[in-house]
Amino acid sequence: MSIQQAPQVKSLNPPRRVLMGPGPSDVSDRVREAMAKPLVGHLDPEFLSIMDDNQSMLRYVFQTNNELTIPISATGSAGMEACIVNLIQEGDKILIGVNGVFGKRMADVAERAGAEVVTIEKPWGEVFSLAEVKNAWQTHKPKFLGLVHGETSTGALQPLDGIGELVHGDDGFLIVDAVTSLAGVPVMVDEWGIDAVYSGSQKCLSCPPGLAPVSFSQRAADVLSSRKSKVQSWYLDLSMVMGYWGGERAYHHTAPVSMNYGLHAALQQICEEGLETRWQRHDNLHRCLAAGLEGLGLQFMADKAHRLPQLNAVAIPDGVDDAKVRRRLLQDFNIEIGGGLGAFKGKVWRIGLMGDACGKNQVLTLLGALEYCLKGEGQKVGAGAGVGPASDMMLELGI
Ligand SMILES: *Cc1c(COP(=O)(O)O)cnc(C)c1O
Repeated sequence: MSIQQAPQVKSLNPPRRVLMGPGPSDVSDRVREAMAKPLVGHLDPEFLSIMDDNQSMLRYVFQTNNELTIPISATGSAGMEACIVNLIQEGDKILIGVNGVFGKRMADVAERAGAEVVTIEKPWGEVFSLAEVKNAWQTHKPKFLGLVHGETSTGALQPLDGIGELVHGDDGFLIVDAVTSLAGVPVMVDEWGIDAVYSGSQKCLSCPPGLAPVSFSQRAADVLSSRKSKVQSWYLDLSMVMGYWGGERAYHHTAPVSMNYGLHAALQQICEEGLETRWQRHDNLHRCLAAGLEGLGLQFMADKAHRLPQLNAVAIPDGVDDAKVRRRLLQDFNIEIGGGLGAFKGKVWRIGLMGDACGKNQVLTLLGALEYCLKGEGQKVGAGAGVGPASDMMLELGI
């Protein structure tokens, strides 16, 4: 037999970046160290108590009493699939709001799951008014409504006031993408009447990518338990997954143990900070960053009234080389920001202020670095044009 030679590769040595893109966001040493703790089995009593803690901390972060609240063992998109495939049965009608990449992705997932998908669309950067949603809901008479709370491709925050009541008035169900919004702005699952919600560990939860917290209301759980057909995905079938998370601890798939350690540490940090303080921190620093970006002459893609504090999407000025600036930020300053997605590719920068990456230090460093990069691209930018207004705002806010 002839054995293939083992490849010679360098040892792992990732640099320490400042992650200010659309995710993953920075994680604390505490989270990284938690992930390096000794491995135990996924049915070890010690691990079972970590699972219980994660569920109770997730209920706090989601502001819900929902029994069915767990982290799915995969990234945010699997949280999206989990909500859709567990609730949708062949031919069910779902109305989805599409004003960016993630609404479009939800529509794609729902179509693959056998739903009859109808969409309402808005230009990217805009949000849907309650009247627009109501009009579409009453025209199409669907069973489900899917909305993206924080549209990471555009930096728009979709208001959800009154939407739960609208949908429940016709015995419908509200599905919400809270991947970017959770733990950065209020996500009040019970109060807002959200029936199924999903998020991701790597955005404002400030944990590495790999887990997708989801929560189902009792009504949504009842839809799942009274299904006539099997859930289309074996891996994401929550009726089986809950056999492991929900009591009997029956093996379904091996839980990613170390990821759950990381989530534990990340959630504990959120509990210690408190949600209200955390929301305020994101809002304050967004205002400082926005003052600085505007000082640099950069225009936001979303209207001021509907901006997502943790994701600042701004237009790249004419004549500026997108890739060159982002490469420079990365190589010279160790800062990652995001480029545009889909229709915004090459046209916008997406600057994240998520969780541990949301601080005064990061805001001033990025604005200073951007000033340097924009000048390097021949833009006329005054000295301190970004840092000046941002630091004034910090003083004004007393942070
Ligand atoms: C990041 C993101 C997702 C997908 O999450 P992944 O972790 O990349 O799978 C879905 N929806 C929104 C709004 C997101 O920002």
